[in-house]
Amino acid sequence: MKIVVLKFGGTSVGSVERIKKVAHIIVSYINKKFKIIVVSSAMSGVTNELIKKSKKISNYFDKSEYDVLVSTGEQMACALIAGRLRHLGYKSQSWMSWQIPIISEGSYGSSRISFINKNKIMKFINSGGIPVITGFQGINESNRITTLGRGGSDASAIMCAKFFNAQKCIIYTDVDGVYTTDPNTLKNAKKIKVISYEEMLEMASLGAKVMQPISIQDARLNRIDVDVKSSFVGKTGTLITKRKNIIRNRTITGITSTKNDAKVTLVGVKDKPGVAASIFYPLSQNSINVDMVVQNISANGKETDLTFTIKSEDLSKTQRLVKKNTKIKFKDLIVDKNVSKVSIVGVGMITTPGVTYRMFQALAKKNINILVISTSEIKISVLISKKNLTKAISVLHKEFKLDK
Ligand code: ADP
Ligand code: ASP
Ligand code: MG
Repeated sequence: MKIVVLKFGGTSVGSVERIKKVAHIIVSYINKKFKIIVVSSAMSGVTNELIKKSKKISNYFDKSEYDVLVSTGEQMACALIAGRLRHLGYKSQSWMSWQIPIISEGSYGSSRISFINKNKIMKFINSGGIPVITGFQGINESNRITTLGRGGSDASAIMCAKFFNAQKCIIYTDVDGVYTTDPNTLKNAKKIKVISYEEMLEMASLGAKVMQPISIQDARLNRIDVDVKSSFVGKTGTLITKRKNIIRNRTITGITSTKNDAKVTLVGVKDKPGVAASIFYPLSQNSINVDMVVQNISANGKETDLTFTIKSEDLSKTQRLVKKNTKIKFKDLIVDKNVSKVSIVGVGMITTPGVTYRMFQALAKKNINILVISTSEIKISVLISKKNLTKAISVLHKEFKLDK
């Protein structure tokens, strides 16, 4: 039996009119004799509104109640989709995670799906039904509702594809595929026809919001091909798949950016073993993720400067923790929120020498100063001043011929 998972993102179900369109897309698959599992996000803006409300109630809103609250948007969207399908004469029903159940593990707000019980949904599908499942939700061992992190409906869809052995997982969103860079930022961004899990994972982790990073990890682990398509226009989208399915000789596949970084510099810290660990220990204990790190070579062999980046929402907490850390001494603490991280991603750079030079040279020509650098096998990230971000994306896009 050919099962297809169709996931609809917030904008795709953003209004009653959009939901009617989505119902037509679902029906088109039914007409092609597929068995369908629908996974939906909340209508666009709803999750943000719920988060705002929780903050107005309390700055320390209980984490488990937070998940109960912010997952309600998906319930509303699923009921509307199922309601529309019923209106059109189809057998359909909305399913919350606890009704299936979709079991999750980990902390509230960032749980991961570990198991989905197939029985009830399969029975429903086999009776001709179209299940419409809430994305973003799970339940944990205490029978409490959990959520899967922002953008987590993508992970719900991938895990449904895994546990229901689907032939395909299609992510319907507001762009018609994964682009060389955010098409809403750079007009001449080009659609990527096929992209490897590894590249998509890097791009998603480095700011390409179109797919949630964890969902790509899940897809890669379970070898699930993912199609990213638009629910607005009927065009061929992007296929996310195994590296060996791809024949392409581009050096760089995509460019991404993040805008919510902050740079912290400790001036005049002791240049001796254990100091960096003492700086980062309290941060790790407080779940603050340190991203890029650079330590200058000490000029006098005694003192040096250490710079690192974190998410800007963690900045005040980081400043507090560094200042009250009795294990370290430093002369000054400098912070900068006006920074952005730009990254180039591509498996092609493994085999192509000179990519770093080309990136740095292209930025230099536009007078863009590089503040911090970090690399992996398939990406190079640089931290730059936020005001140069658009210029940097555009010049790198051109340098690596991504608009061709
Ligand atoms: P959904 O609500 O469907 O889950 P998201 O807002 O999470 O949609 O993701 C889609 C958005 O991702 C697009 O509107 C686009 O602005 C952004 N985006 C960022 N980088 C890319 C990229 N490289 N390719 C396509 N879209 C991207
Ligand atoms: N509604 C959730 C969010 O806004 C999940 C999702 O959209 O995938 O993060
Ligand atoms: Mg999304």
